[in-house]
Amino acid sequence: ETALAHADSLIRTIPDYPQPGVLFRDVTPLLADATALRSVVDAMIAPFAGRFDVVAGIEARGFLLAGAMATAAGVGLVPIRKAGKLPRPAAAVSYTLEYGTATIEAHDDIADGTRVLLVDDVLATGGTLVAAHELIGRLGGVVVGTAVLMELEGLGGREAVGDVYSVFTA
Ligand code: 5GP
Repeated sequence: ETALAHADSLIRTIPDYPQPGVLFRDVTPLLADATALRSVVDAMIAPFAGRFDVVAGIEARGFLLAGAMATAAGVGLVPIRKAGKLPRPAAAVSYTLEYGTATIEAHDDIADGTRVLLVDDVLATGGTLVAAHELIGRLGGVVVGTAVLMELEGLGGREAVGDVYSVFTA
């Protein structure tokens, strides 16, 4: 078994979380395994190696992968947060959820033209990553790639986001 196949086997599927009818992919057992974590961090960096200046991770599980990827790749890290968490003025983008709206924010700590690799744990409808892409543009950054641990197929995420690299699909 390869390290990546082992990592895939550690992702748990939780029925009816956070709501009835939803199959939630829980990546925490994968994160807890040293070999699995290293293999997915390396896999998410590889397609973009040498082509990005910072990693931008989306709250909250995207932070975990982005932090590991940034140190492994030798680049900086920009946290993309849910609304109202940042202490300084921040750029904000709102987007539509199944019920209601959500807002993500980031501080402008990157120079114009900074090459950004966007990172999250799971791609579902793509709404979060499309908004994150827009947010990075507002900061003057250039999104050079998008990487997720797992892509949930059939929800339109790939169509919405465009080019996205996923280590696993479900
Ligand atoms: P989207 O905006 O693509 O519909 O949803 C993606 C966002 O919701 C990501 O930030 C991701 O963390 C979270 N998400 C949606 N479904 C799941 C899931 O099954 N498992 C995990 N871990 N996160 C999910």
